Amino acid sequence: MRGGWTGKVLRIDLSRGKSVVQDLDPKVAVDFLGGRGFAVKALWDELPRGVDPLSPENLLILATGPLTGISMPSSGKLVVAAKSPLTGGYGDGNIGTRASVQVKKAGYDAVIISGKAEKPSMVVIENEKVEIRDARDLWGLDTYKAQEELERQYGKSSGILTIGPAGERLVKFAVITSEKGRAGGRPGMGAVMGSKNLKAIVVKGSKEIPLADPKEVARLGADSFRDIKSKENYDFWVRQGTMATVEWANANAALPTYNMSEGVFDGYDKVGGNAMEKVYKIGQKGCPNCNMPCGNINEIKEGPYKGRDTEVDYENIAMLGPNLGIDNMNWALTLNLVADESGVDTISLGSVLAFTTEAMKRGLVTPEEVGMRLDWGDGQAFLELARRVVSREGFGSLLAEGVAQASQRIGKGSERFAMHVKGLEISAYDCHAYIGMALAYGTSPIGAHHKDAWFISYEIREGRGVVSEERVRKLIWMQNVRGGFFESAAACRLPWVEVGYDLEWYPKFLKAATGLDYSWDDLHMVANRIYTLIRAFWVREKGGWGRSLDTPPAKWFEEPQTKGPLAGSKLSREDYERMLSWYYENRGWDQNGIPRKSTLRKLGLDWIIPELEKVVKLAE
Ligand code: SF4
Repeated sequence: MRGGWTGKVLRIDLSRGKSVVQDLDPKVAVDFLGGRGFAVKALWDELPRGVDPLSPENLLILATGPLTGISMPSSGKLVVAAKSPLTGGYGDGNIGTRASVQVKKAGYDAVIISGKAEKPSMVVIENEKVEIRDARDLWGLDTYKAQEELERQYGKSSGILTIGPAGERLVKFAVITSEKGRAGGRPGMGAVMGSKNLKAIVVKGSKEIPLADPKEVARLGADSFRDIKSKENYDFWVRQGTMATVEWANANAALPTYNMSEGVFDGYDKVGGNAMEKVYKIGQKGCPNCNMPCGNINEIKEGPYKGRDTEVDYENIAMLGPNLGIDNMNWALTLNLVADESGVDTISLGSVLAFTTEAMKRGLVTPEEVGMRLDWGDGQAFLELARRVVSREGFGSLLAEGVAQASQRIGKGSERFAMHVKGLEISAYDCHAYIGMALAYGTSPIGAHHKDAWFISYEIREGRGVVSEERVRKLIWMQNVRGGFFESAAACRLPWVEVGYDLEWYPKFLKAATGLDYSWDDLHMVANRIYTLIRAFWVREKGGWGRSLDTPPAKWFEEPQTKGPLAGSKLSREDYERMLSWYYENRGWDQNGIPRKSTLRKLGLDWIIPELEKVVKLAE
């Protein structure tokens, strides 16, 4: 390997208190790139089928890619992955954190952590030196305090990853956090870390990232940083980041409102990008190597957390604002801060709170059972219920299992409005009127998340409601670029998505970093391989597959929106099924969503056939 990859993987066994460095197989690097690709390869190869995600056998994987940390715009992403305790399938997320660059500079492409420490512990990695240290004094601290303490001990430039009290208590949607407000691993990666008694990971590296052609990387980097700053949308993006999406989603009837019952919200402008910019925003934060930082730091002006600040983007505010009927930015910011400090995913928290409110309004749970009365817009009550969720108190402990589990336990038909796919709560787009985005959620490889396919913008631009195979092919193309390429190269997709930085830069960076000439066709092949291996992992763990697992909840099909420009909209089951069939055909999967043997051979995944056939009969 000439560069891009370090060629080394660090393995840490917490049960035995040992670590070892292994060579990265060059073929794995070429075929899977890194990040998500490395993670799913390791999980398939090393996890026995049916492992309890919260047992010591599960692996917690931190993976970089060949573009991570190099002098390229927005290259500071780290993928965190494991078998998910929330969904039981493949789980991952990415974090924009100094830890991404530090892992690479310490000399590793990936860090794979197994076992369980006897007592609360932390891992400290300084190049070759790897130590498992006592962290009993950190256990119980929220993520902000833990970050401060670790920065005091190891310096502000260290890469620091922590969990909060929610991860320690195994809340199923606990995340891994960094730098007060950066978070990743929605499907419970923080709970996996907590199950290993691992409070924190600190990484300090002092090596040069190896590059095939360092001069060319520097030249491309300088040109690219300039190019991004010259983009038309650059200034507005830096002012509002993704928060402008509140107004845009409302105008297009896609703003999640009242547990995704509606797509428009009367008080949207009070929690939108313009209100934020005028009243609440006090600063800006970004990931390493990013010159279009989008982390909006906002000050809470009123309420119990008055004077504190918190970093927000669209997803947080939409799910903790309109989706709860909240039109007061102070409450949305407060809930966001509590989620970040506790170390839970803001999207899933918003979803479980909204689900419970709807269940109460429909008479399926009583205020006595929940321990309080809930009403749309009641920030005080949501703050108290959020506190009970993250500390697993009373009814909060049921909600800490996630909306799928909670609705199954409540029963009485509440599953119909538990807004998740495959067990992961749906992120912040109402899809009553957007069949393409609904399919994107339905087929996202970690459960319903926008990371892999933010198809709604394409649908709005090119026309809503189109049911065609061409649309499905476009969705697959988009998933391959977003969830295949960016999640395995490990870099941020937003320069391309938001300011129009050209995709053609990336093969050039890959060539300069690794010396290898990837075309976009090659990169789509890598992405198809990763998507299909992730699907195979799910099939193996679930013992089969069926179309309902790739389908959004009944509410969007059965209960139309009643307000706004698209009132009356709902999804058609017949159309969705047609789109799903085309999706399977174009991915080379059978009509139950299971990869065909011929597809596995074409993608160089024939080695998984014998194991997969222990679970299901594969179609040719
Ligand atoms: S655009 Fe935003 S998410 Fe992407 S690297 Fe920059 S700060 Fe991070």
